[in-house]
Amino acid sequence: MSTAPRIAAAKRDWGHDERGCTVLHIDMDAFFASLEIARHPELANKPVIIGTGNRAVVSAANYEARKYGINSAMPASRAHQLCPGGVFLPVDHHYYSQISRDIFGTIFSRVTDQIEQVSVDECYMDVAGALLEWGSPLRIGAWLREQVRARHGITCSVGIASNKLVAKMASTNAKPDGMLLIPVARQAEFVQMMPLRGIPGIGPALERRLDEHGIDSVKALAEIDLPLLESIAGSRITAERLYNVARGLDARPIVTHAPEKSIGAEHTFPQDVSDAASVCGLLRRCCDDVASTLRRKGFVARTVTVKLRFPDLSVTTKSLTIEQPADSASALLPVTLRLLRAMLDIPADATPARLPRAIRLAGMSVSGLSDRATTVIQPTLDDVLAESGADGHVSTTQTRLRGAEEALDAIRGRFGSGSAQLGI
Ligand SMILES: [Mg+2]
Repeated sequence: MSTAPRIAAAKRDWGHDERGCTVLHIDMDAFFASLEIARHPELANKPVIIGTGNRAVVSAANYEARKYGINSAMPASRAHQLCPGGVFLPVDHHYYSQISRDIFGTIFSRVTDQIEQVSVDECYMDVAGALLEWGSPLRIGAWLREQVRARHGITCSVGIASNKLVAKMASTNAKPDGMLLIPVARQAEFVQMMPLRGIPGIGPALERRLDEHGIDSVKALAEIDLPLLESIAGSRITAERLYNVARGLDARPIVTHAPEKSIGAEHTFPQDVSDAASVCGLLRRCCDDVASTLRRKGFVARTVTVKLRFPDLSVTTKSLTIEQPADSASALLPVTLRLLRAMLDIPADATPARLPRAIRLAGMSVSGLSDRATTVIQPTLDDVLAESGADGHVSTTQTRLRGAEEALDAIRGRFGSGSAQLGI
């Protein structure tokens, strides 16, 4: 819940020139409180405060509650004093993150994968690559807002600008339930109508320091030259940042990261089994599924974890971090089977038909995910020595097997997931 100041005059039409405005900042309005009202419609129009208990703090408050001066991080007991008639609800993180995952995974990801998620209810989106399909940033913003409302009955606000700084300030001033486009030509003017605290990153200490030098607004800040700013701020880096923000400039890129922490597959056997072939076969199908998901999502994984559940319902897991980040079953399966052996104390040279323990459930997952496109995957020195051809071109066993699996993805895409598998 943002406590950044809003300027009523900023929420107006700044013109419709969208050129260069490819950064969206999307922020749910009073997210937790709105979700509670969406599932308890009888609470609509009442002050709703999320956070109960003597020692609790307010996690969220709807706009009705904010009229009483309630805001986030305030002790819940204080909120009770301010608004004794308010509806106080406990925080249901599980529910809020479930809806958040749907909003990001089902709605936002339809537009682009260039998303920097800042929190459970807030993100930046770079739509430059989506314009060919979607036409304009305003259209994208309107579609996102409509989808969030239709699917979840809550509202969000969208700021559209040429950079993260101005987009965030725009969404803040668009709230609640608004959208604000700040054309490139107007971004300095927009920023300069704000108080200093309206700039993300300027907190009370910096505000005080600037005020001591007679700088009490962004407009005043924009009139100070860089050397003077440096002497006031005490560092070149802070001075440059202040110099830029006072002009609505911000060079920070959108930083996308893998939203998923792990990808896994597991299955419970219809009956407990102890024959090695069944368990290995199942783990191999899990590797296949997981690798296929990794490739579809463009990730590679560094860590493999195997999970076993026994007839007494006890569970054990074991993990191994692999040398080369991988997205192929041919790389994941040997590690998975190695972990299985270690978990059941099977010697490396033994190949028993029956496992020492019966298994009820088996599965594997991968974590340590990163974007394949930005992850450097080098063949090991051994691979290179063993496999460089006469022309010096390196084609390792792993890259060839991965190519075969990619071909299988296409077959499975057409005929279903059980239609083909690699004979590893
Ligand atoms: Mg929010």
